[in-house]
Amino acid sequence: MAGKVCDVCGGGAVGVCSSTLGAIGFAYCSQCLRLGVEPWSACVATVWCVPEADLSEAARETIEASLKLLKKSWSDLRAAAIEMDTDYGNVNT
Ligand SMILES: [Zn+2]
Repeated sequence: MAGKVCDVCGGGAVGVCSSTLGAIGFAYCSQCLRLGVEPWSACVATVWCVPEADLSEAARETIEASLKLLKKSWSDLRAAAIEMDTDYGNVNT
């Protein structure tokens, strides 16, 4: 995967794999694969689609590990999901 960057951290990717948060694949480096973390965009999309209280334990653990690696908070995530919702709401205006 010469030249491909990890979609989570921007490091050197070792492969493209299925995401644990949805039916999509991303490039991951060995560290992110080992930690089981996901790209910011996947975390935001998950919280945008699924009410926080309804997240599975596995999804919650994945998102928490991802937030830790990305140095982000649940508040950052909620704000990004609201922004995404607003963006979609403005598509047809
Ligand atoms: Zn990575």
